[in-house]
Amino acid sequence: MSTRQCLFCLGDSSSSVSVEHIVPESLGNTTLVLPRGFVCDKCNNYFARKVEAPFLNSPAILAMRHLQGVGNKRGRIPGMDVVLDNGMAGRLERRPRSPIPFSL
Ligand SMILES: [Zn+2]
Repeated sequence: MSTRQCLFCLGDSSSSVSVEHIVPESLGNTTLVLPRGFVCDKCNNYFARKVEAPFLNSPAILAMRHLQGVGNKRGRIPGMDVVLDNGMAGRLERRPRSPIPFSL
């Protein structure tokens, strides 16, 4: 078995089991993936928790994912909090492949 080196920490990543999505899966990427061993599991988990999650869960990105119908790994499209002109707060929900229920 050959030794692989993590491209981030340069540590041994020969036994890593995760693949690195170059663009997060939650942005619809299922094909741009680095094979196992390019990134160690520790770095992959770190970037998922500390970099990708805060970005993907930021209000602007959640709104973009909602409006574009980009689901997460399980296909769930995030809801979007809205405030109507009359000040009433609400939440828009979508199902995969469903059209936007309003026009802009
Ligand atoms: Zn690493």
